[in-house]
Amino acid sequence: MKQNLHVEVGNYNIEISNENVGSVLDELKLFVGDKRCFFVTDKNVYKLYRNVLGLDSKEVFILPPGEKEKNFKNYIKILEAMEQAGLTREDTVVALGGGVVGDMAGFAAATYMRGIDYIQIPTTLLSMVDSSVGGKTAIDMKDAKNIVGAFHQPKAVFININFLSTLDKRQLMSGLGEILKYAFIEDSCGYKQSVFMFEYLTLCCEKLFALDSITLMRVIDYCLKLKIEVVNKDEKEASLRRILNLGHTLAHALETVTKYKKYTHGEAVVAGLFFAFEVAYKKGLISYSYYRLSTELLSKYGFNLKDEWKKYDSDLLAEIMKKDKKALKDKMVFILPCDKKLVKEVKLSKGEVLGFLKGEYLQR
Ligand code: NAD
Repeated sequence: MKQNLHVEVGNYNIEISNENVGSVLDELKLFVGDKRCFFVTDKNVYKLYRNVLGLDSKEVFILPPGEKEKNFKNYIKILEAMEQAGLTREDTVVALGGGVVGDMAGFAAATYMRGIDYIQIPTTLLSMVDSSVGGKTAIDMKDAKNIVGAFHQPKAVFININFLSTLDKRQLMSGLGEILKYAFIEDSCGYKQSVFMFEYLTLCCEKLFALDSITLMRVIDYCLKLKIEVVNKDEKEASLRRILNLGHTLAHALETVTKYKKYTHGEAVVAGLFFAFEVAYKKGLISYSYYRLSTELLSKYGFNLKDEWKKYDSDLLAEIMKKDKKALKDKMVFILPCDKKLVKEVKLSKGEVLGFLKGEYLQR
């Protein structure tokens, strides 16, 4: 079974398939024809899919795995490999892997020769529902995540859910973390027809953990429809696209403060969602019943990350959050829930943020 989606910004298609993993190469070949493809992947994906995708007969650059590798050093290495291989503007970079590979290969493609084509073949749930679509590419610096990057839309995205059969439970949950975010922003996305993410995710938790093919395809399709709606309206995050950052301001600070080694991205996002709901409730933006319903949904998926921020020095977290790309000179900008499935942008002073982090902010 195959489903297709189209993204107006960048004018590309996304294919979601549950056919055998090898069929992704047929799709790629159909799309690029005789164009030369330069694959970027990571060591884990290479080992797992080397034979089934015949990677040894292709031009492949292999990154060490993990968020801590999403850095300048490896970015330069990719560029050097591209240059040594004599890649030209006629050629295509293929990002085969999770969000780290996608972000880095995408950034290399965005900057090599001032931009060459790239295609995303996401292999983690998180990259299927989020990072492979929308054209954000980036690398991290020591004290700031995703701080160097570019908007560069892929030419195509080939999603094959059978890659998920080798993903471990922790990484599957990381993807579920980003998926849960969509339940809380659905109505703010402005998609013309309701996909009822909140309700659907409340019902289909067990099926997602069991990798039920139909459920996975539906959820990926729902998330991407919402993301595409937002990206089509605001490619460069001037306004609406900021809603996709729900939970991310604290998430990025937690990832940074732990040197990109402790949390998966999805875990950090869920910790950030718990924080966003706590701040929203304490500020009187949402009712207690919505606060409870939402945090219960996060817990239903096995996330035990409520109050996670309390494990770290609040001043340090606030300092890192002040470097967030959305931050203003004297205010920090958070996306917060303001009603069921709705979010809005809220500016908070550093003092207020510290109050919330330390649990000193009095409830309404
Ligand atoms: P990841 O790329 O680090 O992958 C997680 C782990 O899974 C890695 O160890 C990887 O080797 C392994 N892996 C990948 N595919 C596998 C498979 N099929 N089977 C077994 N193991 C596999 O992490 P991620 O969660 O995919 O992506 C997180 C990154 O995405 C973060 O850097 C985040 O900032 C970025 N991101 C970007 C956007 C965007 O719009 N560009 C959006 C969301 C997240």
